[in-house]
Parts: sequence; structure tokens; C-alpha cells
Amino acid sequence: MRAILKTPMGAIAAALLTLLAATAVVAPTVWGAAAETMDTSQMLTLPSAKHWIGTDQLGRDLLARTIVATRLALVLALAATAVGVVVGMVLGVAPSLLGRRLGGLITAVVNIAVAFPGLLLALFFAAVFGVGQVGAVLAIGLAGAPGFARLVQTLVAGVTRRDFIAAARIAGQPKWLVSIRHVLPNIAEPIVVNATMGAGSALLAFAGLSFIGLGVQPPAYDWGRLMNENLERVYLNPLAALVPGLAVVVAGLAFNLAGEAIAAAFRLDTTRPRALSRSKAQARQAGAPASSPQPDADRLRDAPTDEDVLQVRGLEITFPGGGSPVRGVDLRVGRGEALGVVGESGAGKSLTGLAIAQLIESPGEVRGSVVFMGQDLTDGRDHRRLLGTSLALVFQDPNSTFNPVRRMGWQLAEVALTHQGLARRAAFSRAVDRLGAVRIPAPRQRAHQYPHEFSGGMRQRAMIGMGLMAQPTLIIADEPTTALDMTVQRQVLDLIDAIRERDDVALLLISHDVTVVSERCDRVAVMYAGKVVEELATRDLGQARHPYTRLLVAAVPDLRTDLTAPLAVIPGHQPDPPEVPPGCAFAPRCPLADARCRADEPTLGSDGVACWHPGEPFPVPQEGVE
Ligand code: SF4
Repeated sequence: MRAILKTPMGAIAAALLTLLAATAVVAPTVWGAAAETMDTSQMLTLPSAKHWIGTDQLGRDLLARTIVATRLALVLALAATAVGVVVGMVLGVAPSLLGRRLGGLITAVVNIAVAFPGLLLALFFAAVFGVGQVGAVLAIGLAGAPGFARLVQTLVAGVTRRDFIAAARIAGQPKWLVSIRHVLPNIAEPIVVNATMGAGSALLAFAGLSFIGLGVQPPAYDWGRLMNENLERVYLNPLAALVPGLAVVVAGLAFNLAGEAIAAAFRLDTTRPRALSRSKAQARQAGAPASSPQPDADRLRDAPTDEDVLQVRGLEITFPGGGSPVRGVDLRVGRGEALGVVGESGAGKSLTGLAIAQLIESPGEVRGSVVFMGQDLTDGRDHRRLLGTSLALVFQDPNSTFNPVRRMGWQLAEVALTHQGLARRAAFSRAVDRLGAVRIPAPRQRAHQYPHEFSGGMRQRAMIGMGLMAQPTLIIADEPTTALDMTVQRQVLDLIDAIRERDDVALLLISHDVTVVSERCDRVAVMYAGKVVEELATRDLGQARHPYTRLLVAAVPDLRTDLTAPLAVIPGHQPDPPEVPPGCAFAPRCPLADARCRADEPTLGSDGVACWHPGEPFPVPQEGVE
């Protein structure tokens, strides 16, 4: 409010709205008698000292009637705005709550309605609901609803992509609750701005409908009605029609200025607020694998066991028109084990993690099986409780991990409230305890703070703390340190290691950084163009046999890298999902590719490598060297 009132526009808008509100409250009491008293001796008089803008055909004072009409004009405009906002928000949020078909139908209806001029819609609805105040409120409100719905749909789509929404869903909150607690508060600012401006438009629209006889009916009157009644005399007594018109303009201006001032204030507010090194050197030597091309016992892919926390089989993710960014992924993670998933951006790593957590939204389609803690998550049943208590997610961007408008303690406490049945006080105490467990200093005070009051590293630790509200058996960490500086990166990874060691928690670490994965994981699955192309123990990364893995390893400089020599590079780029070539997807970039590679796609066998020429030597491509 202070920010709004500090600007000239905000101060003028506040003064005008205060004047309008005060007039609406007191006018019927102060000027009501003058507005209603008929005086046959004063019929249709021109402006005078007694009647400043004259009288009507029954001798009633027109200035008094214009002032008294303020209350009805404002009440009807605000009522119509409320109808538009409520219907618009329901239509705007519904597609994110309903299935693809029903949601798509609502979106299509909204899009068609938005294409119609608002005035045409208002006249259509006015004809449907009939003349009178109620009909006009519904007509103007419903005519404004599609615009609000479109705005809300766009805003919801933007917010639902943010990590704190995924975190809330993995915590087991139903969609409607996520919408109320997390989505709506984060789209409130533009909604408030548009609703304020919408009130100004509604006021004008109401005056228009009353002016043409479809709005307020006698004996009631608003500004449009007064203009209608005095239009015939506009050449004799122009003030009789112009003053009510001026009232409409001033009131409409007040709402629009208020909307602009609120928008400016919001804009201001948003401005405040291990083995690898050794093995890599070996791999870099002419790209030659140090080990035999024949698989040995250590290299064989582990067979699934009952001890597995997670088994993924044939995971496929498709998007209409977007191809299949994940094309049949098999993974397993044993109890207490750490599996790293590496690859370049767009390899399908993060989508695989989201699919495991059941966070792929329509229109995305997921096929294959995901068995977590012995339960098939793809069997169509509700597994929110299992996921909320046994799976912890750590996302890449600590800035979007938390709902910015909720205090940190309560965001963590939601898990205990939803799944552990704790009372609010106990849930908050557990949140404080978990913040302390992830080494947040002064956790009780911090629990009362908002996310923007935490540093990036503290937010990431708080995200891990949220995962520890229950008893996770698996942590999925998707690029958990990419957005952090080097010293904080190590602290966060050390914290995850300490938690894993203490509670025997398994880890699925998704990263583009082979070094991070090699330091923190037991095994590595290398993904390329939506498939796992090699799976091996991290200690064997130096003896990787798939050309892509070998180039990934070779491309990471270390302290022994000769910086005067050209760096190793992987030429070309990964294909987009719809453009994955037949045969081996890596063939266009592979130094070993031949006709067979381009025709037949190799599969990941028991030797853990999907390649027709595993382990064959090749010259490592270097930066700037043809
Ligand atoms: S199958 Fe052929 S193109 Fe694909 S990685 Fe192996 S050698 Fe290269």
C-alpha cells in the first residue's frame, strides 16, 4: 500500500476511490430526500442556484440523483466484476485439474469466447438473462469471464512448471489443494490488477447497458439510466446528461488508475526482492579403452533383485508432436545404492526422474513399469502416500523450489500434516527439527522466514530437509548443485552423502557432470537421445566402451589436462526427439560409425553397452582440429 500511495498515480487513484466509496456510503442518507422528492412546480427546470444541473420531469434534483446513483453504479459494477473473476478463475484453473479431454474442451471454449467482442457477448447474455439489474450483472460478468480465464490459464501454466508445485505434489497434496495453496497465491498479483481494471470496464459496460435500456430499470437508477432519461433534453440542458456521464468517466478512470498503480507497485516489489582422473587420462590416450573389449564379471549389468528400491523397465515418454524424449529406459537402484544418470542436456535424464516421481503431466504419456519399494507406480492406483513418505526430490533450481509466498516452516510441515497425521504445532516442530538436521542455523527463526530470506545453498538444504520430513528410502536429485557456487555445491553433496550413510538411503543423481557422478555414485547410467547407452560401475569409467561415454569422460578437463593442447570435444549436437535418426542415434557424431550403425539400432545387452563396436579405438576429436 505504501508503494502504491507513494506514486502520484496511486495517490490520485486512492483519493478518487476513497471519494467514490464515501459518496456511495453517505449519499443516500445525505441527498436521498432531494433525489426522491417530487416537486411539480419544478419540473424540467434548467440549471439554477437551487438545482445546479436542473431537475427531471417529476421535479427531482438531478445532481442529487447523480450523487445517490453512485452506490448502485459501484455495487453493480463490483458484482459484475466478481462474477467475471470467479467464473474466469474456475475456467482458468479447471484445465489443470481435469483430464486432457475435458481440460482441452474448456480451453477451446475459452479461446472461442475470447475471440468474440466483449460488448457483443454482454448483449447476448443480456438478451438471455433478460433486462434488469440481475441480468445485466450476469451478462457483464460472464462477458468478462473469458478474458480472465485466458489470463489465469496462462498464469497457471507458468506457475505449474515451477519446482515447488512438483514438490507439493510429491508431498501427496491433491491437485485442488495444490491449486489453492500454491498456484493461486502466486498468480494473485496480475489477477488483482486485472480485476481492478475490470471493475472500471464493468462500470462503463453497466452504464452502456442502462443507457440502451437493458440495465437498471425504473424506479431504480444508475448513471446510465440518468443519461438515458435526460438525453432528449441534451440541447436544452446538456448538464443533465453530461454530469452522469462525467461520473462514469471519473469512476472508470479511478479504477483504471488504481490498477496501473497496483501493477507498478508489484513491478517495484519484484525487483527487491575419484577414480575418474586416473581412468580419464587412460581413456584420453587415443580413445583407447584400457580394458579388454570383452565384458568381465564386474562390468555385467546387475540383475534386478528383491532388494531393489527402484526398478524401471521399458520407460517411454511421449508428447504429441514432440516425439519420444525417453525411448525405453531400464534402470535399477539397490537399497542404499547411488546410481548416477549422466548425459548432455536433452538426453531425457530429468524427464526420467519426473516419470519415476509420477510428475509427467498430460499431454505427456508414460509407458513401461516403475516399481518403487515393491509397488508398481503405473498400476493406476493412488501412490501419493508412498511417494510422499519414501521418496525425496531435490531439484536443480533452489529459487523455484519453494512457494515464495509461504513461510518455510509451514512448507516443510505440509508433509507431516498430509502423511503423518501430526497436529499443526507438532508438524511445525518437526519442520524446525529437519531444518536443523540439514544444518540450517537458528532453524526455529528460519522456519518463520520466507524463501527469499534464505541463501541459494540454504534453500537447497531446506529442500533436502523437506525430503527428510518422512523417512525416504530414495532421493532423486536432479542437477542439485548446478545453480550453486563451488563451495556450496560441495556442502550440499556432502550433506546428501551424510544422510545416505546415516539412514541407508538410495540415491538417483541426475547430472550432466561426469566428475560429480563419479565422485558420489556406485554406478553410472549414460543416457543419449532418450536411451541408456551404457551402464557401468563408476570405477570403470576410465574403461568405458561406448564411444559416447568415452568422449564424455575425455571432454572433462582435470588438473593434469595440458591446457596448451586442444581440448577434447564431442562434435555436433544431440538430435531433438522428433529427429532421432534410424539406427544408432549417436552415429552422426560417432568416429566409429559405419553402415550397420546407421541402419540397425544397437540394444543394451547384459554387457551393459549399446554399441556395435564397443571398445574399439578411435582418435578423440579435438577443439578446432578437423
Ligand atoms: S553403434 Fe556405431 S555409431 Fe553407435 S556408438 Fe557404436 S560405433 Fe558409434
